[in-house]
Formats: sequence, C-alpha cells, structure tokens
Amino acid sequence: QNTINKIAAGEVIERPMSIVKELVENSLDANATNITVEIKNGGISYIRVTDNGDGIDKDEVRKAYMRHATSKLLTSEDLEGIMTLGFRGEALSTIAAVTETEMVTKKRDSLTGVRYMINGGKEIEFSEAGAPDGTTIISKNIFFNTPARLKFLKTSVTEGSYINDLMIRISLSHPSISFRLISNGKTVLSTSGNGKVKDTIYGIYGRDISNNLLPVDHTSDGIKISGYIGKPFISKGNRSFENYFVNGRYITNVVIAKAIEEAYKTRIMQHKFPFTALFFQMDPTMCDVNIHPTKKEFKYYNEKALFSATFHAVSDALSEREY
Ligand code: ADP
Ligand code: MG
Repeated sequence: QNTINKIAAGEVIERPMSIVKELVENSLDANATNITVEIKNGGISYIRVTDNGDGIDKDEVRKAYMRHATSKLLTSEDLEGIMTLGFRGEALSTIAAVTETEMVTKKRDSLTGVRYMINGGKEIEFSEAGAPDGTTIISKNIFFNTPARLKFLKTSVTEGSYINDLMIRISLSHPSISFRLISNGKTVLSTSGNGKVKDTIYGIYGRDISNNLLPVDHTSDGIKISGYIGKPFISKGNRSFENYFVNGRYITNVVIAKAIEEAYKTRIMQHKFPFTALFFQMDPTMCDVNIHPTKKEFKYYNEKALFSATFHAVSDALSEREY
C-alpha cells in the first residue's frame, strides 16, 4: 500500500505546487465558489486549502484516501529513483503518502464533520469534529519521509512562485470563483468571483494592470478569441505576463506567443513581452493537449490559422485606441 503510493506520488506530486493543483482541482470538482490557499515557505512546510464545496461524507473519508494495491511491487527504498507512469485519480492518497496531512470536512446536511489525520500514509486520527460546510486539507512537510525527493525542490521563494503562477492561471480561468492566496501570512491574490475577467485581473495583478487593458474580441477560421491585452507600456522581459487559455484550459504554445509578440511589434514597434489574458474557443477535436499531469503543451492542427487569428485579434485591439 505505502509503496505504490510513493510511486504514484513521484509522478503526480513533484513539488508543493502539484499538491496545491490537485487540492484546488478537487475543490472545483466539489462545486466550491470560495477557495483559499495558504502556504508557508513556498508550500514546503505548509499548505492549506479551504473550500466551501460539497464536503465528504463521514463514511467516504477513508475511501477517498484509498487506492488500488498491487502485488509486484518493490520496496519503498527502490522507489527513490524510479520514473514510472503514475495513476490519475489518486491525488489524495499520494499526497497523504508524502506529507503530514489533515482533513476537516463537513457536508451541508450533516450535523458534524470529520477530522482525519494521516502521516506518510499512516492513519493517525479519525474523529468527529465541528466544522463549517466544505473541506479543509492541510499538507505539511512535503517529502519528509523521502529525503531524496526533498533534495530536488528549489528554494522556498521559487517553489512559492510556482504556486503563485498556478493560482494566477486557475483564477483567471475561473472568474466566477473567488480565490485567495496567502503566502507567509500575506494575501498575495484575492479575486472577487463576480464572473468578470477584468475584475479577476484586478484581484490578481492590481490596479496598475486592470486599469490599462484593451478588450479583445475576434473570430476567424473557427477560432474565437476574447479577453484582454495590456496597453503597450505594460510589459515584461519574459513571457510570464502572457496568459492564454484554450477551451478553458491554461496552455503554452509557441505559435500563439509568437503571434502576440509579432502583433505588438508590427503595430507599435514594441519588442518586450506584453500582458495578455486571452481565451480561445476552438474545435476540441482539432486540438491536442499533452495530458501528462505536469505538462500543458498545446498543438492545433492548423498552425497558420492559429497564428493569423491570434495576430489579428491582438492587432485589432491595439489599433482601436491611442496610448
Ligand atoms: P479524484 O479527484 O480523481 O477522484 P482524488 O484523490 O483527488 O481523486 O480525490 C478522491 C475523492 O475524494 C474525490 O473523488 C472526491 O470524492 C473526494 N474529495 C477530494 N477532495 C474533495 C473536496 N475538496 N471536496 C469534496 N470531496 C473531495
Ligand atoms: Mg482529484
């Protein structure tokens, strides 16, 4: 049991950011409208995700942390270096295998909730507890029981920045859900969840950016593009300001990136990297997204059309105003 959990954990849970990703996705699946993520030390020592979602029934809590067993398995020690395909749908058990985990959860129609503690896959406590509706999961000291993995983590600043980037993408692609990210006691992101992309951008990046946006609305070749781009003076020395989503999903794609940058260059001679929050809608059967849990590389069957649509969407938005 413990051994296979560690294998899967190596795949799904690579760093603190992976834990936040899995927990927040679970909160979204549970119909939460309010999700708060609190981290300390870049998530290395502490991650807490609180949601106001459906909660988990008392009788289902242990089940949520279970996974399939296998017979042909190696010892725990063999696993430090193994790279194998993991198992999706096993996030909680893998997180519980490599952290000190505590869950408090309550369904709306239950009188009391449950507190469940599990360290390195070993159950510590299961008890009734008073709790608000929804689920809170705390994951402490990632890889405390697999020192070899711990060594591969970067500094807490870098690990924290991965979580920050993740929360930006998730909150941008869910404007109707209110997200908050607290890092070392400080709120660094707080979105209203009112459904408006512009207000979501404000909650993430603040007024300097949200007050300097140009709307985008363009359709060509079956590709619909909406959202916002930043006025030319909003820029960075790298692509970290370029956010784009295909059919609701955050992706990276060099054709889109090049088209965005080319449009700024052509229109206003800008050679830096602009701010964008662009939402693409297109036929999913013509798209290919690498579904590896840690990757999001996107391919479209017609790169020429994708380039052209993106270029014109950005170019049109830039042409409509004076700066
Ligand atoms: P998966 O999400 O693929 O089902 P997980 O290991 O991530 O696998 O979660 C296991 C189960 O635990 C989920 O299917 C769900 O029933 C329950 N669960 C996990 N997190 C939450 C949550 N925040 N709110 C309600 N239920 C949850
Ligand atoms: Mg899940």
